[in-house]
Amino acid sequence: MPILIAAVALLGLAIGSFLNVVIYRVPVGESLLHPSSHCPHCDHPIRNRHNVPVLGWLLLRGRCADCAVPISPRYPLVELGTGVAFVGVTLRLAALHQLATLPAFLYFTAIGIALALIDLDCHRLPNAIVLPSYPVLALLLSAAALAQGDWSALLRAAIAGAVLYALYFVLAFSYPAGMGFGDVKLAGLIGGVLGYLSYSTMLVGAFSAFLLGGIAGAVVILSGRGSRKTALPFGPFMIAGAFIALFIAAPVIDSYRRLTGI
Ligand SMILES: [Zn+2]
Repeated sequence: MPILIAAVALLGLAIGSFLNVVIYRVPVGESLLHPSSHCPHCDHPIRNRHNVPVLGWLLLRGRCADCAVPISPRYPLVELGTGVAFVGVTLRLAALHQLATLPAFLYFTAIGIALALIDLDCHRLPNAIVLPSYPVLALLLSAAALAQGDWSALLRAAIAGAVLYALYFVLAFSYPAGMGFGDVKLAGLIGGVLGYLSYSTMLVGAFSAFLLGGIAGAVVILSGRGSRKTALPFGPFMIAGAFIALFIAAPVIDSYRRLTGI
């Protein structure tokens, strides 16, 4: 287990570094491979030793080695955050005896971080990330079902994905100001990964997203920083809700059952 944790931590840092490229380049339609990382201010390529996650930024004290323009602390924070999220997801799946789903959930964690930040930056969830994730997650969850010999979980994932997609489709159709079709397409993915674990995990995830979105909307209005019409991107709340569900769904359902005796 300690070796697995160390491995996913390092993997998370490296993937986080790649996510910085994704978050910066996908919305503007740039290639992920060419050119290699360069300073957006002076265009000088980043030296390899400065490209090491987190350490590179610390080594440079947050400034470009060539032109000394400040480099946003968001870069090392995304790297560190991805490493921490990978470790947290791994520990949680181990506790749930669901380590077979680790590749699917690490993939979902990575695209979740990228999509949440892109949605915050530019209010959209690029198809270039969301659509290929359907076959990728279908494949990874099928592999998990094969490893566990549990095809009912895969069927549940497909049904939960379709149900959450349909729910968001109705919402986006009847309330276009608050919900976009990017959210609908993301909902299918979230329903699928959470539904693989259980229907209640999917429900807690959806409920958490609306609760968080409602709280954030109320804070924006009450603090006078926006009106009812200020469009908050909903993707980050959907993704945060999914992670909350992964961690709290089981205990929440247990205490609900104990309280109601169902
Ligand atoms: Zn520079």
